[in-house]
Amino acid sequence: MRFETIAIHAGQAPDTTTGAVTVPVYQTSTFQQDGIGRPRGYEYSRTGNPTRAALETALAALENGRHGLAFASGVAATTAVLSLLKPGDHVVAGDDLYGGTYRLFERVYRPLGMEFNYPPTTDANAMADALRPETRLVWIETPTNPLLRIADIRRMAEAAHAAGAWLAVDNTFASPYLQRPLELGADLVVHSCTKYLGGHSDLVGGAVIVNDDELHRKLRFYQNAAGAVPGPWDCWLTLRGIKTLAVRMRAHERNARAVAEFLASHPVVERVHYPGLPDHPQHELARRQMSGFGGMISFELRGGFEMVERFVAGLRLFILAESLGGVESLVCYPPQMTHAAFPPSERRRRGIGDNLLRLSVGIEDPEDLVDDLRQALANL
Ligand SMILES: *Cc1c(COP(=O)(O)O)cnc(C)c1O
Repeated sequence: MRFETIAIHAGQAPDTTTGAVTVPVYQTSTFQQDGIGRPRGYEYSRTGNPTRAALETALAALENGRHGLAFASGVAATTAVLSLLKPGDHVVAGDDLYGGTYRLFERVYRPLGMEFNYPPTTDANAMADALRPETRLVWIETPTNPLLRIADIRRMAEAAHAAGAWLAVDNTFASPYLQRPLELGADLVVHSCTKYLGGHSDLVGGAVIVNDDELHRKLRFYQNAAGAVPGPWDCWLTLRGIKTLAVRMRAHERNARAVAEFLASHPVVERVHYPGLPDHPQHELARRQMSGFGGMISFELRGGFEMVERFVAGLRLFILAESLGGVESLVCYPPQMTHAAFPPSERRRRGIGDNLLRLSVGIEDPEDLVDDLRQALANL
């Protein structure tokens, strides 16, 4: 089956007892057992729930992987991956990454004795040079948040494996419609389902997808033992979102291209970061490992925070909010929102200036989006 068919059918066969065409929301905490030691397949909803099982089957199929695991949030999914490590283990993480991931690494796991360092995501040699004998995990986001840089997944997988480490890819920005890291050699794929997979800004969820049976066994144990699972209703909403992932991603991309081209031509805009623009430094790599460039853009204004504030206040359609990947267009100011967890010096070192804005381009009419940006920029 091809992607769009998988998105609608994988894990979502009609209900065998009633014929219901959508997977029921099994809103139950527990399940009757036929006798002592004879459950019918489900026992308790932290351990397993049929709505969640349907979502996990769909997630695995979308990433062309063997096993999917759903979590209560993207951060909970990341925590599950870190449960594979122990004190003394080392992680090489690309430097441009989600602020909450950085906070988890630095504020929760470093104090427990894990080591992290952050070479430039786009420099495969620097990433490979950072590997040590005690490195167990390489963690990358691509495209990165918020600068939309691209890491070479195949090369990073080779370097990680040569050092006896796993490669985990946070695939939230691309979605499996545009990029499938397991096919390029990654061992673990992580998603914040809150974003494109859910797609409607109405839930928080996360996922890990793997091929390896032993990794799956460990993660499945951790999922039940630590318990950060999504409820059946959120699983159902995520399943509903997934059905339209392909059509939404095409619309996000069409709009993002129009917005990026408009911004790149505007005199008040200093720089546009969008992998679909031919002058993006990793445009060719993005073409190779992705089947499209997605709906996320960041850009820098020719001015400081004061100009940023006036611009945001002038927007009528773009909503000032954290998060991304929903049908509505959002604008975010990374230094004080998604990336506030980075100290100012770390932010600057990573190229996140005070003039940087990030757009999650929705699926509205592209001309309305460009008109909104045009009128807000005209006021500056
Ligand atoms: C939002 C996000 C996360 C965290 O996911 P939550 O669902 O908010 O816990 C992780 N990585 C990326 C790239 C994100 O955008």
